[in-house]
Amino acid sequence: MNKIFADLPVTIFEAMSQAARDLNAINLGQGFPDDPGPLDIREKAADAVLNGYNQYPSMMGIPELRQAISTHYAHWHGVQLDPMTEVMVTSGATEALAGTLLGLIKPGDEVLVFQPMYDSYVPIIRLAGGIPKFIRLEPPHWLLPEEAIRRAITPKTKYVVLNNPLNPAAVVYPRENLEMLARICQEFDLIAVCDEVWEHVVFDGRQHIPLISIPGMRDRTVKIGSAGKIFALTGWKIGFVCAAPHILRVLAKAHQFLAFTTAPNLQVAVAYGLGKSDDYFFTMRAELARSRDRLSEGLSQIGFPVLKSQGTYFVNVDLAPLGLNETDEAFCKRLVTDHKVATIPVSAFYEEDHVTSVVRFCFSKKDATIDTALERLSRVLNG
Ligand code: PMP
Ligand code: GLN
Repeated sequence: MNKIFADLPVTIFEAMSQAARDLNAINLGQGFPDDPGPLDIREKAADAVLNGYNQYPSMMGIPELRQAISTHYAHWHGVQLDPMTEVMVTSGATEALAGTLLGLIKPGDEVLVFQPMYDSYVPIIRLAGGIPKFIRLEPPHWLLPEEAIRRAITPKTKYVVLNNPLNPAAVVYPRENLEMLARICQEFDLIAVCDEVWEHVVFDGRQHIPLISIPGMRDRTVKIGSAGKIFALTGWKIGFVCAAPHILRVLAKAHQFLAFTTAPNLQVAVAYGLGKSDDYFFTMRAELARSRDRLSEGLSQIGFPVLKSQGTYFVNVDLAPLGLNETDEAFCKRLVTDHKVATIPVSAFYEEDHVTSVVRFCFSKKDATIDTALERLSRVLNG
């Protein structure tokens, strides 16, 4: 058996969702909304299942969706992508990430990875024979540290993986920080693999800046997105990869043997969704920001030190000032067992040199779910 996978635990998201089911707890762990998603987009998918084409589509994705992705990014970010040679549809961002890393990395290549990191990156880097080099981000700002990045680079460094907006830290990276990373990529001839699944889930008027849009990065960036997060349809698993033709050609070779293609009916519906008016996206952000505020204010009132969330479905609490003498993992275990609220310990997003005081809460839930969770959490700090 392959040790890389045999030695891995079940993901923290799966483990916490299972604990929530077993213990009948409110699940503020794994990131998904507790509503069925936008009705018009679901109706498009239903219509495409009944009346549309349901056989294998092109392995690159249906042309309407590739065009819609290209038009969407031109409109929102001024990035011009040729839909035929620079855009590919995948079975979720997870497949896009796996195909990208497997397609690019050669044995011995070093890959810079920022911790906290999404859990799928490192096993796939290792499967490809790559060597992850970890750079630690820290609360409360979680910014990319130039000195540490420069220290981690060797002649073998070939790639950097960036997740922006960052799950779990809920940071939307500012332009200066991205420009610093872009300068380093150009100075050391690195390709950036950008996991931007949370690109539309940004709050308070913030703008997501794709690294591919920074001067000099157009031909050395792989941009990965997911309809699951853009439309709050997390189970759909429709992802996108955008990159210059000479890169995308290689990623397509990996994709053809990983998933090969993706449900055509859902692709039709996502193509429709990407063309929705700006208002739709701004309303979605405003509604989620309201839920963020409801949970954040409730947690603060209870006495939890809340780190402000700039984007994603998540808000974090830093336990350090509370002096609980308990790791995030022990705290989350106690929360789900004794108080019936499932959350995610942020240390699970570190491979080494863990930050062990931060706990992630998912707020993309109905008001009643948030309120019941807060009521239960109100008993945590006073015994
Ligand atoms: N990357 C990040 C940072 C995520 O948070 C997630 C899931 N929310 C994914 C990738 C996976 O996305 P998908 O469900 O489209 O595979
Ligand atoms: N991205 C989701 C989260 O952060 C989890 C997806 C998964 O379970 N792999 O909660």
